[in-house]
Formats: sequence, structure tokens, C-alpha cells
Amino acid sequence: MDEQSLRVRVRQCIVASRLPCAPGQKTYAGFGDGRCCDICASEIGPRDVQYEVDFVADGVRTRTLIMHFACHTLWHEESQCGRPQHRPDEYIALAGADRD
Ligand SMILES: [Zn+2]
Repeated sequence: MDEQSLRVRVRQCIVASRLPCAPGQKTYAGFGDGRCCDICASEIGPRDVQYEVDFVADGVRTRTLIMHFACHTLWHEESQCGRPQHRPDEYIALAGADRD
């Protein structure tokens, strides 16, 4: 999946609340252990840099996102961590641009 398609997917998931749009409380980086990326759904191999982002509420971990380094960067850019929420028409424009 190319970067533009992934970016559209990330935005759609954020809009549908399938991905958080706020930063996690803890972020870890290491090498992949065979689990699948929450963004692109591909396996994160032992030579790939893997990011784990924990979300914590009331001292309890509520969710952990597992991502490739590049996917984490995309998610970070598209979520509120990176910049303000996009307008809905911007999502539509991007989704349309993906269909060539
Ligand atoms: Zn990925």
C-alpha cells in the first residue's frame, strides 16, 4: 500500500473512531516481533522498527497500538498529535485522489 493510500486509510479510521486521534501516554520503540501493524495490517518483521503506543485511563492500560515506524509517523501526522483535525471535505478530496 502506498503512502497516500495509507494516509487516506488512517484518516478514515480516525473519523470512524477506529484509531485514536490523541497521543498515547507511553510510546515504546523496538524491533518487530511478528505482530501485525494496526495501520497497514502487515506483519512487523524482526528487521522493522516497531512502535507501541499505550493509552492509559485511570492508571489502567486501555489500548495498545502496534505500528511500523512509517505507519506511526503517518498516524502521528494525521491525528491531533501532529496537527489540528481535518475538515470533512479534505477527507473526501483525498479519498477521491486515491482512485486513479
Ligand atoms: Zn504498518
